[in-house]
Amino acid sequence: MNEFGLIREYFNWPIKDPSVTLGVGDDAALLSLEKGYQVVTTIDTLVEGVHFSASTPAKDIAHKSLAVNLSDIAAMGAKAKYFTLAITLPKINKSWLQEFSDSLRQLSGQYEVSLVGGDTTRGPLNITITLIGIVESSKALTRSGARPGDGVYVSGTIGDAGFCFWKLSNSLIPSNQELKRLNCPTPRVELGLTLKNLASACIDVSDGLEQDLSHILKASSVGAVIEVEKIPISESLLSHVNDTNNWSIPLCGGDDYELCFTVPESNQEVLKKVSKSCNINITRIGVITESLGLQIEGFDGPRQSYQHF
Ligand code: ADP
Ligand code: MG
Repeated sequence: MNEFGLIREYFNWPIKDPSVTLGVGDDAALLSLEKGYQVVTTIDTLVEGVHFSASTPAKDIAHKSLAVNLSDIAAMGAKAKYFTLAITLPKINKSWLQEFSDSLRQLSGQYEVSLVGGDTTRGPLNITITLIGIVESSKALTRSGARPGDGVYVSGTIGDAGFCFWKLSNSLIPSNQELKRLNCPTPRVELGLTLKNLASACIDVSDGLEQDLSHILKASSVGAVIEVEKIPISESLLSHVNDTNNWSIPLCGGDDYELCFTVPESNQEVLKKVSKSCNINITRIGVITESLGLQIEGFDGPRQSYQHF
C-alpha cells in the first residue's frame, strides 16, 4: 500500500454536507460558505509521549485529536463544519489505521463535521487536525467579554483527566470512567452553541482551570474571586483532595475539555434551564471583580499549570 492507497482506504469517505464543493483528492478543498457568517478556525497537534502514551488505543487517539478541536470551536460558540488531518506515521499498520479511521469517522459523523483534506507523512506518530467552523457575524464568544459582577461558571466536573494522569504517573490503576475522561473527552458542543447567546466570555479548560480562567481575566481586563469548595469534582477526586489537603489537581490539571464561562446577572435565570436542555451540570464557582488577578479562596498551596516550554 502506498501513500495514495492509504488515503483512499482510510481517509476518504463519502461527504454528506453539500457545502463541501470539493473534498479529499484535489490539490485543496473548496468550501461554499453562507453569507452573514464568519469563519472560525483552530488547530491542535497530538504528539506521542506528550499528549498520549504508546499504549493509548488508536481509537482514543483519533477521538481525542478531533474532540480537542471540537472543544475549541464550541468555546467560541461556533458550529464546527470541516476539518483537515495531517498525520505522521512511523509505518503502515493496517489494523491500527482501520481502528483510527473508524473512530475518526464515527466522531465526525456524530458532530456532522466533514474531513475535506490533509497530509500524510512518515515519521514519529503525530496527528494535527485543523477544524473550521462558522458563526453568525460578530456573534462569536471570545475571552474578552467578562465584566465585573458576572458569575463564573464551569460545566461538568473539573480535574478528572488530571487525576487519571496523576494515577497513571504514580503506578495506580484508574477506573475505566477515569481513563475515559483522559483519553476520550466529550466536547461540550451543544453547550457552547447555547452559551453564545448567554455568556459574556468563554474558554475551554484544556490547560487547567486556574490558567484558563486567568486567560479570560487578562483578555477582559478584570479579576475574579473563586472558591475551591465550589469547584465541582468527582467523589474520588474529592477524597484525594481531602486526604492530601491539596487542590492542585482541580486547579491545574489539564485535559478536561469542560467549558469555563462568565454570565451577566440578567442571564443567570435562563442559564438554569440550559443545564437541563444540554444535559450537563453547570456550577457557579465565583464572580468577576473589578480588581485584577484571580483570587482563590480556600487554597494557597504550591501548584503548577502545564506549559510546553
Ligand atoms: P499534494 O501533494 O497536492 O499536497 P497530497 O498528495 O498530499 O496532495 O494529497 C492528496 C489529496 O489527499 C489531497 O486532497 C489531500 O488533501 C488529501 N489527503 C492527504 N492526506 C490526507 C489525510 N491524512 N486525510 C485526509 N485527506 C488527505
Ligand atoms: Mg500534500
